[in-house]
Amino acid sequence: MRSVTRLDPAEILSDELLERFRERAAVHDRENTFPDEDLADLKAAGYLAILVPRDLGGSGLGLAEASALQQRLAGAAPATALAINMHLVWTGVAKVLADRGSDALRFVQEGAAAGEVFAFGISEAGNDLVLFGSGTDAAPLPDGGYAFTGTKIFTSLAPVWTQLGLHGLDTSSPDAPQLVYAFVPRSEVQADRVIVRDDWDTLGMRGTQSRTTELHGALAPADRVVRRLAPGPSPDPLVFGIFSVFELLLASVYTGIARRALDLAVATAHKRTSKKTEKAYSQDPDIRWRIAEMALAYDGLTPQLDALCRDVDALADHGGRWFSLLAGVKHRAVTVAKATVDDAVLVTGGSSYFAGNELSRLYRDVLAGLFHPSDPESAHATVATAWLGPIEE
Ligand SMILES: Cc1cc2nc3c(=O)[nH]c(=O)nc-3n(C[C@H](O)[C@H](O)[C@H](O)COP(=O)(O)OP(=O)(O)OC[C@H]3O[C@@H](n4cnc5c(N)ncnc54)[C@H](O)[C@@H]3O)c2cc1C
Repeated sequence: MRSVTRLDPAEILSDELLERFRERAAVHDRENTFPDEDLADLKAAGYLAILVPRDLGGSGLGLAEASALQQRLAGAAPATALAINMHLVWTGVAKVLADRGSDALRFVQEGAAAGEVFAFGISEAGNDLVLFGSGTDAAPLPDGGYAFTGTKIFTSLAPVWTQLGLHGLDTSSPDAPQLVYAFVPRSEVQADRVIVRDDWDTLGMRGTQSRTTELHGALAPADRVVRRLAPGPSPDPLVFGIFSVFELLLASVYTGIARRALDLAVATAHKRTSKKTEKAYSQDPDIRWRIAEMALAYDGLTPQLDALCRDVDALADHGGRWFSLLAGVKHRAVTVAKATVDDAVLVTGGSSYFAGNELSRLYRDVLAGLFHPSDPESAHATVATAWLGPIEE
């Protein structure tokens, strides 16, 4: 395992930068546009390569530091944080593999340091197998590459990605079926093979521009085919890498939203005064109780994230408990974030119901957390199996 650099998150994401992101977030939400300027600022700050080792041109941070940064970014611009999360996931998976002795995703590390933007092309309509299956066809080519045909949904970073990491099912090779993980570059040559629909118009997280991606024989060259795995659960480090980094960084985004909602509620409680008592709401016992409830829940999230991120980096072995711990922290983060935003709305009162109010946007953005894997059903099934064993056939 490589040594990781420790740093104060404000060194990479300064208060001034976050304020700019926050101002733009309102505009991108209103206009349903991708935050190009945020991406340019993040690139300039070296953010795309925070998880890339120093000797490959990155910052050499660990997952815990990336988690803290993503919490900070999400507190300013949730959609920007969620979009860039997908890129960070692939660089995080590359780190998980490298820490375990495989350089299969070294091109992701080198690409991220060189300015490539990696998107996450896993979700497909109705595919509740997620990583364990795919409805996308992966056709083997004579040179070892693959041609992918299918439809990926919710592809964040749609206007800007340069490489799409995806999976599909090879049903024609002698050892078929095999799930194929590979990267498809975006290029002029592929223009009619990779079609990005202009169909993102959602309740929240509008800046992610997570559009539908049609693949019509999209080509992944042989040196970008990362793994061929039997469908179903797999002990392969790639699957562990995707699952662990995805759940932890995603939980970080929603934890950042919870923190912002808490901060906004505290600020309002100090500002609003009661006509009845002529005191600030911060002196009202009911408001104090509500804010304490929010803080009690929020304070439980950050240590869990920090500990599990460090465990992934330290190659800790939680055996069969790993998946339930990871799905669990994601589930708790989005549940707490949603409840915290609800409470912040109550503390703030009617002004938060206006469309231009930041809390009103957080209320819409935070809802997206429920849909990401592991969704509540999948998280409960994973945790129940960890504690009770599998359901009998
Ligand atoms: C803001 C946001 C950003 C995201 N970014 C990414 C990303 O970058 N990469 C990624 O891989 N995933 C991403 N996701 C996807 C996400 O993680 C979930 O996989 C996604 O929300 C699908 O959830 P679901 O299983 O509830 O949807 P589904 O139930 O699969 O439904 C999704 C769509 O498919 C349709 N559908 C459902 N079943 C069928 C069927 N049998 N046949 C045909 N159509 C069907 C539904 O009507 C719906 O329109 C993102 C999600 C959100 C909310």
